[in-house]
Amino acid sequence: MPPDIPGVLSALRRVLPSGPVALHEPEFGDAERRYLQDCLDTGWVSSVGAYVDRFEADLAAYTGAARAVAVVNGTAALHICLKLVDVEPGDEVLIPALTFVATANAVHYCGAVPHFVDCEISSLGLDAAKLDAYLGDLARLDGGACRNRRTGARIRAVVPMHCFGHPVDMEGLLEVAARWRLEVVEDAAESLGSFRNGRHTGRFGRVAALSFNGNKILTTGGGGAILTDDEALAQRARHLTTTARVAHRWSFVHDEVGYNYRLPNLNAALGCAQLERLPEMLADKRRLAAAYAGALEGVAGVRFVHEPPHCQSNYWLNGILLERADTDARDALLEASNADGIMTRPAWTLMHRLPMHAACPRMPLDCAEDIEARLINLPSSARLGRSL
Ligand SMILES: *Cc1c(COP(=O)(O)O)cnc(C)c1O
Repeated sequence: MPPDIPGVLSALRRVLPSGPVALHEPEFGDAERRYLQDCLDTGWVSSVGAYVDRFEADLAAYTGAARAVAVVNGTAALHICLKLVDVEPGDEVLIPALTFVATANAVHYCGAVPHFVDCEISSLGLDAAKLDAYLGDLARLDGGACRNRRTGARIRAVVPMHCFGHPVDMEGLLEVAARWRLEVVEDAAESLGSFRNGRHTGRFGRVAALSFNGNKILTTGGGGAILTDDEALAQRARHLTTTARVAHRWSFVHDEVGYNYRLPNLNAALGCAQLERLPEMLADKRRLAAAYAGALEGVAGVRFVHEPPHCQSNYWLNGILLERADTDARDALLEASNADGIMTRPAWTLMHRLPMHAACPRMPLDCAEDIEARLINLPSSARLGRSL
C-alpha cells in the first residue's frame, strides 16, 4: 500500500509543535556556560586540561569501558581504531553499505579497501548470517588470516555501525568474526546511550569509535572518543593521537608518524556538561519515539522503526519505513513534509554508489537498497519529547 501522505503529516503534527521543526538540534544550559567560562578564565583551552581527563573518565564510567580516549572527531576515532587492530595498506575491511561516509573514509585513510556488506531490517545494521554465508563462498583461512580468494587481499576487520542508535546483533556478529579471524571495530558514532542485553554499544568489539559532532545526541562542537577495555591499546591510542611524542620534560622526540587528534579542553568542557544531561535527553528521546510510534499506528503504508529486541536504543534519529520500496513515494513524502516545515531526510546514499567506491568489492546489497528506498528520518531533538 502506498503511504498515506496527509495521514503521515497530520500524525507528525500531533506529536510536534507548530512551525518549522529541525531534524536534530543540540541544547546547552548553565553547566555548559560555566565550564567553558572556566576554560577561558584559567587559560586551559587546548589539547591538555582537566576537562579532557574528566570527560574521558566520565565516558568510561557511563559506558562501562575500562578506558576512553577523547579525540577531535568521530572520523579520527575510527581511523585510529582501525590502526589499533593493525589494518594495513592493501587489507580489506568489511563495512555496511548503509552508513555515513566517515566509516568508509577511515578505511581509506589506512590505505585499505572498504568491502561493502548488507544489513538486516530489524536493526538496519550488519546482517551477521548473510556475512557468514558470503565469506563461506568468498574467503578462506590462511594461517591466522582471512583472505579474499578473488582479490587475494587479507580481510582484516569488520566494522558494525549502530544505525540511528539501534544496536546491531553483536552476539551473532562476534561469532562470525571469531570464525573468520576478523577484528571487530564498532562504529558507535550514533549510539551513545544505546544498550544491547544491558551492555553499552561499543563494548562488544576490541575497540569502538564515538562521535560528538553537532548533530549527534551529545555534542562537543566537534569531537569523538575511542573506547576499549584493553589498557595497552588505550595507551597506544593516546600515543598515536598526540603526534607519537615520547614523554619527556623538555625534548621533542616522536618515535613514529603520529596524528594531532587530541580533543581540546574547550570541547571536553562542553562534553562534561553534556554528559550530565544525557540521562534526561535519553528519557526525552524515548518519550518522543513512543509518541511517534503511537501517532503513526494505523497510518496506511508506513511503519515506525522500533528498537530491535533485547535492546535499549537512544533513538538518536527516529525513522519510518514505507511498506514497499518506492523512491517516488518516498520523495513525495519528503517533499510534502519539508514544505510543511517538518525537516525530514532520506537515508544516506549507499556507499557503493559513491564514485570513489565504484571498484570496491561488495556482496549483494538487497536489504540496504530496499531500506534506502523506504526510509525517512523524522525530527528527533531531545527537547521535542520534553513536554510530551
Ligand atoms: C557522525 C558519524 C561518524 C563520524 O563522526 P564525525 O565526528 O562527524 O567525524 C562516523 N560514523 C557514523 C555512522 C556517523 O554517523
